[in-house]
Amino acid sequence: MKFPKSEQLLERASNVIPGGVNSPVRAFKQVRGVPLFIREGRGAHIIDVDGNKFIDYVGSWGPLILGHGPRLVVDAVAQAAERGTSYGAPTELEIELAELVREIVPSMELMRMVSSGTEATMSAIRLARGFTGRDVIIKFNGCYHGHADSLLVSAGSGVATFGIPGSKGVPDGAAVSTVSIEFNDLELVEKTVSALGPTKVAAIIVEPVPGNMGLVLPQDGYLRGLRELCDKDGIVLIFDEVMTGFRVALGGAQARYAVRPCLTTLGKVVGGGLPVGVFGGRREIMNHLAPLGPVYQAGTLSGNPLAMVAGLATLRYLKQENPYPVLEERGARWARGMSEEAKSFGIPLTAAHCGSMVGLFFSETPVRNFAEAKRSDTERFIHFFHGMLAEGIYLAPSPFEAGFISTEHSDNLIGETLSAARRVFASMR
Ligand SMILES: *Cc1c(COP(=O)(O)O)cnc(C)c1O
Repeated sequence: MKFPKSEQLLERASNVIPGGVNSPVRAFKQVRGVPLFIREGRGAHIIDVDGNKFIDYVGSWGPLILGHGPRLVVDAVAQAAERGTSYGAPTELEIELAELVREIVPSMELMRMVSSGTEATMSAIRLARGFTGRDVIIKFNGCYHGHADSLLVSAGSGVATFGIPGSKGVPDGAAVSTVSIEFNDLELVEKTVSALGPTKVAAIIVEPVPGNMGLVLPQDGYLRGLRELCDKDGIVLIFDEVMTGFRVALGGAQARYAVRPCLTTLGKVVGGGLPVGVFGGRREIMNHLAPLGPVYQAGTLSGNPLAMVAGLATLRYLKQENPYPVLEERGARWARGMSEEAKSFGIPLTAAHCGSMVGLFFSETPVRNFAEAKRSDTERFIHFFHGMLAEGIYLAPSPFEAGFISTEHSDNLIGETLSAARRVFASMR
């Protein structure tokens, strides 16, 4: 497989865009490759500018649970565009999406629409601080919550990929009130809270099923334990469900694990492939937001009508058609298949899934946190990645990312993927 046009476009892009890309993980640096420039997406497939066709497991990094260009989303956006693309004034569409989100995620009693996951988490943190009058935030190593200053400490894939501990350009003042600790260890959270002083901690923010250090599953009782700890000390528990919302279950990880956070952030699927973020939760906390309260937050394109209709079309479909049992099965088959194929060639690999979120590490043992993720064999991953690409399978170009199965990934396509993996594993023995 050859990529001459992508190579040309990368050169051209690099003259006007730093590194040729508008988001760093897209650059293929971690797999030492050339990023593919995409011409179109259809269903489970993407086609690059050289005409190469791939089964796509990136799905725009999570939003595309219905695959590329679902008719109902494309039509809804086209029709909405006829009525204008933005008003900067309230619309009925925003209410409809908010009502539907609250029906599906009842912990979000009040919510606000923004334009990205980063904005949602950044705003949720500000709100938690404003509500509690406390400064310190606890997060977990390898969890990514967007690129706001105070959240870039040990933030998983993108930053891990480049070996930058946080980021240059973040003032000490912004990072100093963020404490990042290892995931999946309740005792450590308890110790950290009491060392900091319980009345100093504004919020604990967590990806309930982390997908930005590769896929890591929460251990039994972990999320419930966080809930209890937060209750004890009046700490705001924030579930960052930008990736897991409408993905690991219709109601997200909080439905799957039956734990109710104080605040939730959404993004990705909720925008149906257009730029949307949402943050929301307990009324008492959300009432602190301007114009009701003293915590400021705003956005010129927030609640954009094209984005609202794309989200509405997607969520309505998910609620009516309930594809989750099928997605669950396909995710399970993917993970089981990968493990079995690798095992048959004596290659240490641990694969997991949570609904249609999938992931693998070249590791002898299951991975429970970021330290263990980083000990996996990334050279093997690079070999596997390029082998799969040559087989027409497009995986995220980093060993620390999850993969996503859409409703368009048929059993046949999963089968093709596993056959390709078998050939690649054979070449890796
Ligand atoms: C993608 C992601 C974000 C950031 O969302 P953007 O839309 O890229 O700003 C935040 N949190 C989690 C868990 C994510 O996966």
